Amino acid sequence: MSPDHNSGYPEESLDPQDWDELRSLGRQMIDDMLSYLQTVRERPVWSPMPEDVRAAFQEPLPRSPAKPSDVYRDFRKNVLPYPTGNIHPRFWGWVIGTGTPFGMLAEMLAAGMNPNCGGFDQASTLVERQVIDWAKEMLGYPSQASGLLVNGGSMANLVGLAVARHSKADVDMRREGLQGISRRMTLYSSVETHSSVSKAAEILGLGSQSLRLVKTREDFSVDIKALAAAIQADREEGLKPFCVVGNAGTINTGAIDDLDGLADLCQKEDLWFHVDGAFGALAALSPRLRELVKGMERADSVAFDLHKWMYIPYDVGCTLVRSEPVHRGTFSLVPAYLARTKRGTSAGPTPFNEYGIELSRSFKALKVWMSLKEHGVDKYGRLIEQNVDQAQYVAERVETSRELELIAPVPLNVVCFRFFSPELDEPALDRLNEELLLRLQERGAAVLNSTKLHGKYCLRAAITNHRTRREDLDLLIQEVIALGKGILDEGFIGNPR
Ligand SMILES: *Cc1c(COP(=O)(O)O)cnc(C)c1O
Repeated sequence: MSPDHNSGYPEESLDPQDWDELRSLGRQMIDDMLSYLQTVRERPVWSPMPEDVRAAFQEPLPRSPAKPSDVYRDFRKNVLPYPTGNIHPRFWGWVIGTGTPFGMLAEMLAAGMNPNCGGFDQASTLVERQVIDWAKEMLGYPSQASGLLVNGGSMANLVGLAVARHSKADVDMRREGLQGISRRMTLYSSVETHSSVSKAAEILGLGSQSLRLVKTREDFSVDIKALAAAIQADREEGLKPFCVVGNAGTINTGAIDDLDGLADLCQKEDLWFHVDGAFGALAALSPRLRELVKGMERADSVAFDLHKWMYIPYDVGCTLVRSEPVHRGTFSLVPAYLARTKRGTSAGPTPFNEYGIELSRSFKALKVWMSLKEHGVDKYGRLIEQNVDQAQYVAERVETSRELELIAPVPLNVVCFRFFSPELDEPALDRLNEELLLRLQERGAAVLNSTKLHGKYCLRAAITNHRTRREDLDLLIQEVIALGKGILDEGFIGNPR
């Protein structure tokens, strides 16, 4: 062997040849990104991507190296200018959190340490345990419960429902699977439930048909009487009801089910009570709003996100499970190569891989831990109240405007409304509002999304944004009215009634 690498050694590595050069590039990156965040308000919320930028992502597989500074230039040119928009003060589409500058830095530190958080005797395990303990306290959930950080609400629901299925099955679910059961297992939730619950039912092999979607009341919370009747009917059919999913903040309107009522029902019927509190669970942080999610603390499992209403950078969600043995019993599988030792690297507390699906796991906990320390939990409570007050403000502006119509009650931080004109019939109103939404986004003025309620197309603003100010909401109202009138005047919609 005659190695002829420039270092004089035969080995290659991915470390920089010139650390000082990378150090100065790294400093530049941090500086640039902090400026980028500081000036976010000055840019459009979202911009359509030009064709030449799209084409830049059709490059052949790189075979030989490029200079980091050139790669970074590519990023600045083609990637950085075309974000989702959610870090902007006027982004209120779907339910998407804002992130924070310190959270960004925490992500960098986590990536630098690059620990595998599946287990091991290491500080990251203790950081995650502490974050879980804090989460229980924040939600008023029992302190003996177990928990796991996951990548979001969808996974958090899947983990919770996997534990529910394991706990309530007639057979040893891990050995027999659903092939071993004789009675179809059914679960219950309202029609307003997020699609991730249905997806979980599919992935768990229960089938979406086994998820019984029950009608809601006027306020979009589940009709508990109808729910109880559905359970009864299924029992009479010889099926096996096993779980109820309660909503703490529905995706469409932020409606909150009567969680105490559902807890009572589950207790009486011996059913697992899971709460999807993706964003609404965090209302518990506010002394003023806490009452809305009362009963959540009685759930057998709770799923919620930290990247939505805690504004932690993507991605991080959490599942809490009341019974640690049942939680661990659902997932723990320890082959020889993962066996724990009394001392050394594999010692330490129960590895998180025994509480979920993933074995190798990232250090998501660090950004949560650092952010909670940075701001203190009370500030998050105040920001959540601020967002709820802002949603109320939008609702008031809508209700006092002749051109706008409120479509649903606003119990939390979500406002569903539309541009209205008495001259238009329902299909024309739908078309007008759809066009209005797209123009609003394309202008970069604000991002909302749409949904359908009572068959009506509506504009939907969900405020999980710590950068939003009243003036941003005033601008929204002003833009929506101007765009709506403009579309009307153009005759875009066609024949008025
Ligand atoms: C966002 C959301 C989810 C899914 O969470 P992800 O973090 O996007 O996976 C589930 N339920 C509700 C009510 C949500 O708002």
